[in-house]
Amino acid sequence: MKVMLLGAPGAGKGTVAKLLTALDGSVQISTGDILRAEVRAGSDLGKKAEAFMKAGDLVPDSLIMDMMEKRLQADDCRQGFLLDGFPRTIPQAEALKKLLAKLKIDLDMVINIDVPREVILDRLCTRRTCANANCQAIYNVKSNPTKKEGICDKCGSPVIQRDDETEAAISQRLSTYNAKTAPLIGYYEREGKFRNIPCTSSDDVVKAVKETLGL
Ligand code: AMP
Repeated sequence: MKVMLLGAPGAGKGTVAKLLTALDGSVQISTGDILRAEVRAGSDLGKKAEAFMKAGDLVPDSLIMDMMEKRLQADDCRQGFLLDGFPRTIPQAEALKKLLAKLKIDLDMVINIDVPREVILDRLCTRRTCANANCQAIYNVKSNPTKKEGICDKCGSPVIQRDDETEAAISQRLSTYNAKTAPLIGYYEREGKFRNIPCTSSDDVVKAVKETLGL
């Protein structure tokens, strides 16, 4: 499948993407994950992106488009892909439209994961991530805590709150989302193949995608 997942930070795009990849071998393309890996590797891109990410701001469109032009041409995308966290601005959406036309790729559908704001805020403030770059397991202090406090069940590394998941950064990320990313909903409604899915659980989204794509 070739699907775009829209939704505020904390809406569950990553969780939904992982569940959908298991259905047909499509790959998850998370611009946030790629950028975090670049920051860890200390690459040029990582150095340019780091300050924006820490502050909860968006990384400039030109850097994202260069990165995505390469990513979408990798062999593993032929089977299909789930765009998770991209595009995030109208200029990225316009550039993506041109890029997909150039690569002769048709998207099957654009999904907006529509989760109430209170649920999102609660999820983001209580999320914890394993600090080990090769593990990155995700926990939640309320709904999915580690067995031993602060220690990853899978690899034993410390479990931390991401730099951009402090209260100040979360509030900045949500304002950035409202100002720059939420307008994509209207944009894709007009472009077609758009489906809004009001939900509080990732399973509801997976069900709706399966129904729409006949999987
Ligand atoms: P995420 O894990 O998707 O919430 O992304 C974490 C951070 O990476 C965001 O707060 C942005 O700083 C940056 N980022 C991820 N995807 C994009 C994008 N498509 N455009 C601009 N910045 C992005």
